[in-house]
Amino acid sequence: MKKIIQITMLLLGAMLIVCQASADVNFSEYFKDQTMRLDYYHTGTAAEEHFAIDRMVNDGIWAGSKQQLIDELELGKYFFEIQEPQTGKVLFSRGYSSIYGEWETTPEAKEEWGVFHESVRFPWPRQKVKLVIYKRNRDQDFEQVWEYMVDPESRRVNPAELQSSYDVYEVATHGKPENKVDIVLLSEGYAPDEMDEFRSDADRFARALFSTEPFASRKEDFNIRAVQVPAPNSGLNHPQQDIYKRSALSVSYGAFGSQRYALGYDNKTIRDAASTVPYEFTAILMNDSIYGGGGIYNLYITAAADNAFHDYLYVHEFGHHFASLADEYYTSATAYEMGSDVVEPYQLNVTTYTEKEKIKWGDLIDENTPLPTPWGQEKFDKHGRQVQKKREEMRKAKVSEKKMEQLFNQQREWEEDYLSQIPHAGKVGAYQGAMYHSKGIYRSEPNCIMFTRTDEFCAACRRAINMVIDQYTR
Ligand SMILES: [Zn+2]
Repeated sequence: MKKIIQITMLLLGAMLIVCQASADVNFSEYFKDQTMRLDYYHTGTAAEEHFAIDRMVNDGIWAGSKQQLIDELELGKYFFEIQEPQTGKVLFSRGYSSIYGEWETTPEAKEEWGVFHESVRFPWPRQKVKLVIYKRNRDQDFEQVWEYMVDPESRRVNPAELQSSYDVYEVATHGKPENKVDIVLLSEGYAPDEMDEFRSDADRFARALFSTEPFASRKEDFNIRAVQVPAPNSGLNHPQQDIYKRSALSVSYGAFGSQRYALGYDNKTIRDAASTVPYEFTAILMNDSIYGGGGIYNLYITAAADNAFHDYLYVHEFGHHFASLADEYYTSATAYEMGSDVVEPYQLNVTTYTEKEKIKWGDLIDENTPLPTPWGQEKFDKHGRQVQKKREEMRKAKVSEKKMEQLFNQQREWEEDYLSQIPHAGKVGAYQGAMYHSKGIYRSEPNCIMFTRTDEFCAACRRAINMVIDQYTR
């Protein structure tokens, strides 16, 4: 569908206002007030990918908006639509990213096959509907990669209500799920006698989020509930450091060979735990003191709750998960290989353009701010390389996590100081260096929580977050 619209625009050489018939979907005509979770296997290599159905289950009441069913933000590497089969009318849609989407870019995917369990969630259809999944191509346009006819009467559908045995702690509730952004927090690596600690970590997550704009101003738009998933013992698995644990959700450090990247591949268990409560976004709090985490758009975040940087980890990773924000840093140890061809990224906080009218946040840039905006990158990068070198040495010497935290703190102080004194400090512009590239990609402000371990989002990130909040609360 999307492909056709783009071709039409090219042919006419002008922007067409495409009237989506779907804008007027009447929720109760097509859907019950219930969530269908469709589970599937996503398998492939760097060169090919395949989808296979697993099952469909009842994931509880529908927590999303009943008015705003179509995802007009179109963020993420993947995108799915629920269509009326006879007419092709889009009844529901959502963008998302996945572990598969990252894995397929790692060297491992060139050598072997991978298989990942994934889910898409949508309101429970009254009749047969068609699920269509799209993926971005090299030009960042969505192309169809799978379709599946969803028959609510099929033997693969289990409408039974999930009976969760986990205890729930209400962190902050401000209204009915359908009018609010609903976040579920899951405990990982907390033994049964550590649930007091989890509840206070959950409160701390809420404080960190709600003290950062734009979440702070829009606190009333959120519900946060914590699900207490007891682990057999305390802490997380760290294969690179010879610390082995089996926890309830199977989240582990060392994802894709990166020591501080933590992911859990046990999608079914994580989803079943999350659906104890109505939810749209998921944060897995890890009972661990070693710096680390991860965040994937519309999947979940993981974050170390006992590290000195927990507040930063919560908010930074949540930026990835909630609004598909790109990392703005570029001295990265993460494992993805970036393509050499530079195409304008879909993420709303990075751009390849330096012309005001082409930049996503161009309307926020003053007429007299130079583009690209100078910011003393050379000196900043020199300092960054020194810290990186020291960090490698310290890691090799296996120094304590406290020593690492000291280094991170020194780095943070230097960077805060430096970035607040550059000539255009506080100005929206186009600052070179973002998304793992030191050249050719730009961010909107000198500093941002997606760039350094500071505590504020830049203007482009704040706007993107507000757009997502609107989508779930309108
Ligand atoms: Zn930003």
